[in-house]
Amino acid sequence: MREFGTTVFAEMTALAVRTGSVNLGQGFPDTDGPPAMLERAIEAIRGGANQYPPGPGVPELRQAISEHRKEHYGLAYDPDGEVLVTVGATEAIAATVLAVCEPGDEVVLFEPYYDSYAAAVALAGAVRRPVTLRPVAGRFTFDPAELRAAVGPRTRAIIVNSPHNPTGTVLTRAELEEIAAVCAERDLIAITDEVYEHLTFDGVEHIPLATLPGMRERTVMISSSGKTFSATGWKVGWICAPPALTGAVQTVKQFLTFTAGAPWQLAVAHALRHELPWVAALRQDLQTKRDRLAAGLRAAGFDVLPPSGTYFVQTDIRPLGFTDGLTLARELPALAGVVAIPTQVFYDRPEYGRHFVRFAFCKKDEVIDEAAARLASLGKGAPRTG
Ligand code: PMP
Ligand code: GLN
Repeated sequence: MREFGTTVFAEMTALAVRTGSVNLGQGFPDTDGPPAMLERAIEAIRGGANQYPPGPGVPELRQAISEHRKEHYGLAYDPDGEVLVTVGATEAIAATVLAVCEPGDEVVLFEPYYDSYAAAVALAGAVRRPVTLRPVAGRFTFDPAELRAAVGPRTRAIIVNSPHNPTGTVLTRAELEEIAAVCAERDLIAITDEVYEHLTFDGVEHIPLATLPGMRERTVMISSSGKTFSATGWKVGWICAPPALTGAVQTVKQFLTFTAGAPWQLAVAHALRHELPWVAALRQDLQTKRDRLAAGLRAAGFDVLPPSGTYFVQTDIRPLGFTDGLTLARELPALAGVVAIPTQVFYDRPEYGRHFVRFAFCKKDEVIDEAAARLASLGKGAPRTG
């Protein structure tokens, strides 16, 4: 694990605190989730839900997850045996990769990828096979030929994240069909990271890969309550998958954490049943924030690649005269009092992402406006060191 060091999110949040910068780096909201959900957690604690919950998750939550999948996507998962509650999507991803990969197996990842994927693959002794997402007319997408070329005889699984962090791409049905075809032809397990499933914009809808023909049986569908209900610190996630896969993941999970978060699990069960109107409002609100930050970034001189989902907007820094996003991100607190994430750290081949920087817009309007005001100085003769 030596190559992994400290995550870029921890590094950049510490930098923001140290320098008093506006933190548009790590993706977490600065407002709370639905009040009734928070009340439900407090009631659960007062009501004594303070001991180990069952290993697979509290029955109320597994039932609520199963109902939600059915109502939203028409996917039927048995709450007893096809749903497993995890400590965030992070544990779900790690436990799944550990469950399905033997040392030397390969896992296809779309780069730039969320940092925990590479770490999970390394923990399993497996090998990454990256496929690069590249902007085409301002939207990041992949070349199907490159995807096919990345799959070899030892390839066991593919991790598919849509809506995608850090690019904001929401995969289209046609793109998902390409992925599904490769999974079927090459007998791959699909591990889907759908933590931003509800956070899509401009009428774009998230399509779970498991809804495509033949995919439910080979997909471990992962999501989490952190983004949907603005409670990233609760770390209640889950997988939905056929019984053999769920059982394998649970075998690993029970030795990672066994179980966690009894009161939060009960509160999330409430939220999945009753707070989806709140989520619809959040989605609208985030779309407005996306546009607000994008306008500020454009005014500052960045080239903006607007996302269809997630918390994040990608920018190309070259119009400002910068070439290296990592250097710029490290200097941005001094140059402008703002912290952002250099996209290149999410690539196996950082050269493809060198000129991109990610900004988070899941923040109060005044925070976005303050960041935009500070960044406005960048285009006005700030030193070009990046
Ligand atoms: N996947 C993606 C794409 C993410 O952006 C994040 C971070 N929120 C996670 C997984 C981790 O989710 P959780 O906090 O539920 O572990
Ligand atoms: N998902 C969050 C992001 O991409 C960060 C989560 C973390 O700090 N590990 O910003």
